[in-house]
Amino acid sequence: MSALRSHDDTWDIATSVGSTAVMVAAARASETESPDPLIRDPFARILVDGAGTGMWEAFLDDSLTDRMAEADPEATAVLTNMLNYQAVRTHFFDAYFRGASDAGIRQIVILASGLDSRAYRLEWPAGTRVYGIDQPKVLAYKAETLARHGAQPSAVRLEVPIDLRQDWPAALKAQGFDPSQPTAWLAEGLLMYLPADAQDRLFELITKLSAPGSRVSAEAVGHHDEERRAAMRERFDKFADQLGIQKSIDIQDLTYNDVERADVTDWLNAHGWTASGTSSTDEMRRLNRWVPVTDGDDEAFATYVVGERL
Ligand code: SAM
Repeated sequence: MSALRSHDDTWDIATSVGSTAVMVAAARASETESPDPLIRDPFARILVDGAGTGMWEAFLDDSLTDRMAEADPEATAVLTNMLNYQAVRTHFFDAYFRGASDAGIRQIVILASGLDSRAYRLEWPAGTRVYGIDQPKVLAYKAETLARHGAQPSAVRLEVPIDLRQDWPAALKAQGFDPSQPTAWLAEGLLMYLPADAQDRLFELITKLSAPGSRVSAEAVGHHDEERRAAMRERFDKFADQLGIQKSIDIQDLTYNDVERADVTDWLNAHGWTASGTSSTDEMRRLNRWVPVTDGDDEAFATYVVGERL
């Protein structure tokens, strides 16, 4: 159960689940502006700047590093890992799309695309169609903001403004999606905002719409026990207090920490895909982006799953 959610809730870019899209865009902007960036998202800063005020401003506050130095080292490690996590996640899924393009896939669907700018910033082979699905107000904000700044897409960009708990396959097909062609799907920063049964339904629909040779990738988050969630919340609150960050929303209140949530890799392997997972912590370590946290909580936050349709 989630404290703040209902089965048909809606939001814009600055509220509820919409604001989480700004948070991750702010992390991408911070990485892009860092001295040795792992990924570059030149549109992230524009998209964050237009979204008003919120907790995300802390990620882009230059004085934060000075204030962090004065706070305890654990707070520094926690923030560094939060930002590194987003950079590593973006890096992983950028590489996934490059692999799909190299394999000849020209139909891309980004589920819960939020402020994802891959349709503008990745190099796509000619003729690639990139569909983005998200709530209408989120997509409208992104399109208007990028158009105002003269951004040009690097693929054929198609938007599907609909909630993923509604009949999104019909809306996707109405935009020209062709289920007979192989597709590369992505669910990044999404599954935790869906109840367990909606996650199953989502993958059932993806499976139905996937021609042989299609690929799917997801950021999968398992059930976290209540003790760990309380510790994470307490640690974040302490850190926000130390750095004077105004906590406008608690992400945990927006997510569904369902015990019965399916393991995505297992689910795919049982439903006509061949899939494997990479622990986010292993990937962070591989890329030298993991900072040990003193209280020892180095359990992976997520698994990055990649599957191919048989
Ligand atoms: N994937 C994007 C990224 O990584 O930049 C956005 C991630 S953001 C953390 C979560 C996104 O999921 C938001 O844009 C939100 O609007 C979208 N979202 C969550 N639940 C959704 C639903 N039921 N239908 C459509 N979009 C949803």
